Amino acid sequence: MPTPAETFVAVREHARKNALLATIDAAIGWDERTMMPLAAGAWRAEQAAELAAVVHRHRTDAAQGARLEELAASPLATAGTPAEQATIRLLKHDFDKQARLPTRLVEELARTTVEAQQVWSLAKAASDWPKLCPWLERVFALKREQAACQRPDLDPYDALLDDYEPGGRWRAIAPRFADLRSRIVPLVQACAGATRRPDDRILTERVYPVPAQQEFVRQVAARIGFDFERGRLDTTDHPFCTSLGPDDCRITTRWDERFLPTALFGVLHEAGHGLYDQGLLREWYGLPPGEAASLGIHESQSRLWENLVGRSRAFWEWCFPLARAAFPQALADADAARVHEALLVVKPSFIRVEADEVTYNLHVMLRFDLERAVVHGDLPVADLPTAWNERFAADFGLRPPDDAHGVLQDIHWSAGLIGYFPTYTLGNLYAAQLMAAAEARLGDLPAAFAAGEFQPLLDWLRREVHAVGRLLESEPLVERATGQTVSADWLARSLVDRYGPAYGL
Ligand code: ZN
Repeated sequence: MPTPAETFVAVREHARKNALLATIDAAIGWDERTMMPLAAGAWRAEQAAELAAVVHRHRTDAAQGARLEELAASPLATAGTPAEQATIRLLKHDFDKQARLPTRLVEELARTTVEAQQVWSLAKAASDWPKLCPWLERVFALKREQAACQRPDLDPYDALLDDYEPGGRWRAIAPRFADLRSRIVPLVQACAGATRRPDDRILTERVYPVPAQQEFVRQVAARIGFDFERGRLDTTDHPFCTSLGPDDCRITTRWDERFLPTALFGVLHEAGHGLYDQGLLREWYGLPPGEAASLGIHESQSRLWENLVGRSRAFWEWCFPLARAAFPQALADADAARVHEALLVVKPSFIRVEADEVTYNLHVMLRFDLERAVVHGDLPVADLPTAWNERFAADFGLRPPDDAHGVLQDIHWSAGLIGYFPTYTLGNLYAAQLMAAAEARLGDLPAAFAAGEFQPLLDWLRREVHAVGRLLESEPLVERATGQTVSADWLARSLVDRYGPAYGL
């Protein structure tokens, strides 16, 4: 009979193999999106399916389940180090959740969402809602079934949310979002009616050569702390960040010679994710103490660097000379103030991924309310376009011209990602609260940014967020770091304070 300590080693080895398999999957996924020739798609799909089967077998290995059962009843579960206790509790939680899913449902979900995504891409191109509707009905039905199997103890929406935001509860999130919405909608309206508008021509009417952009954004990413010895930056159509191992973080971006912010803010965003990955505890890689707390916390790190650092006036005091050296023609007659102002445009638009920092949250909250209503059986899938357009008109003062610019624009629901959307705005909300706390603790952060010093902020995030791993759920993590209960107040105030003046409000 092995001792609990020996069993723990076996559990850890098994979980480490999970991480090895997951990062092989991530490596072929990264390759597919950056380097793979088009014709290689069919073979790659077979590789991915083969690997997925191996991963699933390994993750649901009954021997690991038995070991976790044994450990949960051992003294290590209550008297081990905090990292050991959390590892036992969370690995068991993950294992049990996975084991409660019948194989039939796993396969049906996989099959249906693959097909639904293909239908979605055709339906979106043709703005053909009736084509996608029956598929979404099946996806939502399967996801409700998944929720009932995996977490019968939870509200079905919370059960789905739990995959992305462990511990998240819609009853806590909804009032915060409602508060935020009640403050953003008037801000957007006030900006639309303002006589003063930020002048963004410096960014929209000049040419920023791509080779110079590539050098420039690399310098910026390195300066905020992204470690290029343990990471890479490559090119894709849809920017992302992925971890291929404890010392291998990949970020990507795209380039637009006529609009510098595409690459720059894409990189600041993905490098923010990357800083989190690079700050997780190496020795616990792939195990709960070395894993991200949630998607919301992950997004808080990307949004913090992208918006709260990268769009600040102080950042541009430091960054502008670097930018002018990179783009001497485009920025010959400019200064830091002019570039900063050009970044503060608020403009309601139909497409979420093109939205500015302020209206972005309205896009997200709309989706959160609608998908929750569907999961709760309060809104038939067939009625989604009408509900979407009504809500959009109320929040943005615009009506989508067709469903391609409305309910059909995102792939998430077709892919089975239900309960995922709120993590974007939760990330913004956590970012604003964390930044306010960092400013209170670290003194004059703007002066540090203006001098190009980002290490004090990064060190604080490393300590308060990155090193915590999954030992705390999002809310306790943010509350411990900031000393305040989670609220939308910081985000709402930060948006009003930064965007109001640009519109003379
Ligand atoms: Zn992100």
